[in-house]
Amino acid sequence: MSGCNHDCKNCKTKCENDSTNLLVKTNKESHIKKIIGVVSGKGGVGKSATTSLLAVAFAKMGYKVGIMDADITGPSIPQAFGLHEGIVGNGNLMFPRETELGIKVVSINLLLDDEKKPVVWRGPIIGGAIKQFYTDVLWGDLDYLFVDMPPGTGDVALTVFQSIPVNGVIIVSTPQDLVSMIVAKAINMAEMMKIKVIGLVENMSYFKCPDCGKTYEIFGKSRINEVAKENNIEPLAKFPIDPNLAKLVDEGRIEDYDLPDLTKLVDACEKL
Ligand code: ADP
Repeated sequence: MSGCNHDCKNCKTKCENDSTNLLVKTNKESHIKKIIGVVSGKGGVGKSATTSLLAVAFAKMGYKVGIMDADITGPSIPQAFGLHEGIVGNGNLMFPRETELGIKVVSINLLLDDEKKPVVWRGPIIGGAIKQFYTDVLWGDLDYLFVDMPPGTGDVALTVFQSIPVNGVIIVSTPQDLVSMIVAKAINMAEMMKIKVIGLVENMSYFKCPDCGKTYEIFGKSRINEVAKENNIEPLAKFPIDPNLAKLVDEGRIEDYDLPDLTKLVDACEKL
């Protein structure tokens, strides 16, 4: 269509390319105020850790929080919270598992009969599972649903953006990826989908020696401020490399972690 600006959410014209047609609705028993996606250009940068820490921070502030683990081929949320028992349902809806702080969690790992089995599914099937995590889960009343997005900018990430009404995304990266185009691609994808980029988190930004207190930038000099400025987004947090975080994740005790300074990140999500 001539003159199309691809901003389907705000366009009044009825047309066959309307991407909002693909949005699915959740069930009558679920009322979710804000949906925030946590994305990264590639895997292993701390996207799931950041999703979990954010959910813990909001739960500790008294908000009703859920996590949808949309990283179907690399699900790591249940492990971080020590959840291993399978999800049950009533034939109509699935009931999420709850963490000690009351965070509601849905993940493919809680639906498999063996957590170690890989999910060897093609894109459309994975996309279908993610849509069901939104439509067929009894989320109840939630203030925030955090979505641990599939890494990268491929087929599955596209399905999530097109089918779930995500209000904004937080981009997680390491200092190394901030040098390459990986982060810019993730930012550009959100912008192309007309989804607000809430801001940028630099994970594994530095290591503070527990003996002398000196700080080392192991993965290279921090570039979060520069990259945020270049892309006209907010730098929201820098997380250190912390062996204690990795240990608590491995032990399923992320809720016991002493949270880093999340003020800017929390404020930005609240303002959304
Ligand atoms: P992603 O979701 O991007 O694939 P994860 O959050 O699963 O990445 O993190 C990958 C691994 O790195 C996990 O074992 C996690 O516990 C660990 N990790 C993440 N962030 C940190 C950090 N800041 N310090 C130490 N370990 C971390």
